Amino acid sequence: MIKYVPRMTSVVLEEIPDRLTLAVEISNCRGTCIGCHSPFLREDVGEELTPEAVDALFASNFGVDCFLFLGEGKDPQALLALARHIRSHYDVALALYSGREQVEDALWAAFDYVKLGPYRPECGPLNNPATNQRLYRVRGGGAEREDITARFWHRGLEGAPKA
Ligand code: SF4
Repeated sequence: MIKYVPRMTSVVLEEIPDRLTLAVEISNCRGTCIGCHSPFLREDVGEELTPEAVDALFASNFGVDCFLFLGEGKDPQALLALARHIRSHYDVALALYSGREQVEDALWAAFDYVKLGPYRPECGPLNNPATNQRLYRVRGGGAEREDITARFWHRGLEGAPKA
């Protein structure tokens, strides 16, 4: 089961370059980031993100062209099932923000954008050129992984992507 926090769902421009993104905060985070921005997301909080809940989110956020999982939870099979649902029903890009250093091949194959790396305060978020985090544009079923992190570096610290 994947859970999300409905009150934190939002449409954003700054998380994925060139995309109007529906960003959904996923709980049960496996990360251990020092300086975690939302420690409660490590807990079993929120509501189940079912295919029906996804459909309702799309219905109330018309016009988005990307669905972003802000976190991956602890149930990779459920996450992949949700990704397949979105892929088969909506013409949008799929994005995953993981706090891990690496994700499995099945996740690379399922998503168009993957962010890797824990948040480290001394390195900063994606828009800091010293960041340890990386955002990849994925093509070819996971075979092509283009590091597009530098796309964030022309921006100021305001509007920074979340850790
Ligand atoms: S990935 Fe996000 S929610 Fe999870 S520990 Fe890191 S900062 Fe906190």
